[in-house]
Amino acid sequence: MTDDEPPRVEVYPGREAVVEFDPNLTFECVEECTWCCQHGVLLYDEDFLELAERADLSEATTRFRGEDFVTRETKDRETHVADDGAACYFLREDGLCELHAEHDWKPTRCSVFPLEVALEGGEIRVSTREKAWDHCEGMNASERRVVDHLDAFLPEYLWELDNPDTKRGL
Ligand code: SF4
Ligand code: SF4
Repeated sequence: MTDDEPPRVEVYPGREAVVEFDPNLTFECVEECTWCCQHGVLLYDEDFLELAERADLSEATTRFRGEDFVTRETKDRETHVADDGAACYFLREDGLCELHAEHDWKPTRCSVFPLEVALEGGEIRVSTREKAWDHCEGMNASERRVVDHLDAFLPEYLWELDNPDTKRGL
């Protein structure tokens, strides 16, 4: 490895990620923020099966360009919604995720945020979402270095996917 190459971190035994963000980045989610929950959420196949055990898929999901997403819906409220008045199907009025609060589970894409995953040259590369720097209140908001806790952001399942790229939206 040369000095110019980004570091590789072993996230699980034998599963490495190329870290393309500043290793000093810290993060702690600010619950009242909910910015990342105002969008549709990509569901990998395993997420889809897990979600089927917790919710009515016909109401909570939609197909877009051949892939499954948690649907966005217009909410009858003014808080925790995007400019168009809509948010993730599971974002409750109190700003909490129904799946996380009631089922202690959330889709992979929600764990990964505010990071971004892309498969390049057979390697999982992890960067920060560009828009997160403008909207995610948790960036550099704590002492918790992301690089030391990558397993909390990157489910091992990502290494088994033909296309783990997270940059796919509704
Ligand atoms: S599933 Fe939960 S964590 Fe994910 S975007 Fe929706 S409300 Fe947020
Ligand atoms: S945008 Fe960042 S701080 Fe806001 S809810 Fe999402 S992860 Fe948490």
